[in-house]
Amino acid sequence: MRFDVITLFPEVFEAFLVSGVTRRAYESGQVTVKLWNPRDYAQGNYRRVDDRPFGGGPGMLLMPGPVVACAEHVVSATPAASADEGDKGLDRSARGSAVILLTPGGRRLTQEVVEELSRRERIVLVCGRYEGFDARVGVALGAEELSIGDFVLSGGEVAAMVVVDAVCRLVPGVLGDEESARQDSFSNPGRLVEGPQYTRPREFRGMGVPGVLLSGDHGKIAKWRQEQAIAATRRREAGSSDRPGEPFPNQSPVPTRKAPEPTARAIETTPRSVP
Ligand code: SAH
Repeated sequence: MRFDVITLFPEVFEAFLVSGVTRRAYESGQVTVKLWNPRDYAQGNYRRVDDRPFGGGPGMLLMPGPVVACAEHVVSATPAASADEGDKGLDRSARGSAVILLTPGGRRLTQEVVEELSRRERIVLVCGRYEGFDARVGVALGAEELSIGDFVLSGGEVAAMVVVDAVCRLVPGVLGDEESARQDSFSNPGRLVEGPQYTRPREFRGMGVPGVLLSGDHGKIAKWRQEQAIAATRRREAGSSDRPGEPFPNQSPVPTRKAPEPTARAIETTPRSVP
């Protein structure tokens, strides 16, 4: 699998690419990440990439020329990762290159979208900056737009790293244990979030561990985990930030919960003063 990232700030990716799972993906030869700077495709002495929006308004927009020239060069002049291995019998349009503009208003990234992307052989990620892209960039490139959430970042680089990270861990051979990706939140058939997990010590600050996890009964453990995942998913869907099921009565005593923070209450209950 190959990622090409088009960015005015390639240096932002340096530490990310040499650490953790992305490093392992890279070193295993399963994933290639190449960085490209649209400034190298800009005209004139100043290699300008941005300009003021027509119709007025704050800030600067990315001009279409440099970004489009850069992306077209990337797609046409460089081979996809598996080009020399021939078609693996899958539809090339489904497997082939995806050009993706990172935008706050794009399709929302979910694990389902991540899975879909992990089946492509090459993904070109185009990072915006300033007030974003001239609208003709997406049309010229036949690009999809992708958002990592309903908030605004100051550049597409962090969003691109989110996509690379999430997709990389699904590429076979990248995670040490394939099973771990299947058990993660949103990755199981019901797209449930993961319930609580515990490791040593058995007792921490007076808190125990659910007895079932120490029982050695794999059937019971699987059932408990499924119930916990369903409960955690329901809590989340209800917008609750409560922690999962404590206390565990069959274990060591659990300290009683602290009263809610007074300040939080105060903010919630104090009527707003209207001038
Ligand atoms: N004026 C734009 C925001 C520009 S933010 C608007 O209101 O929609 C600058 C750049 O950061 C964007 O071009 C995009 O590449 C990136 N960006 C910001 N928020 C993002 C998000 N939630 N998901 C993906 N990319 C985002």
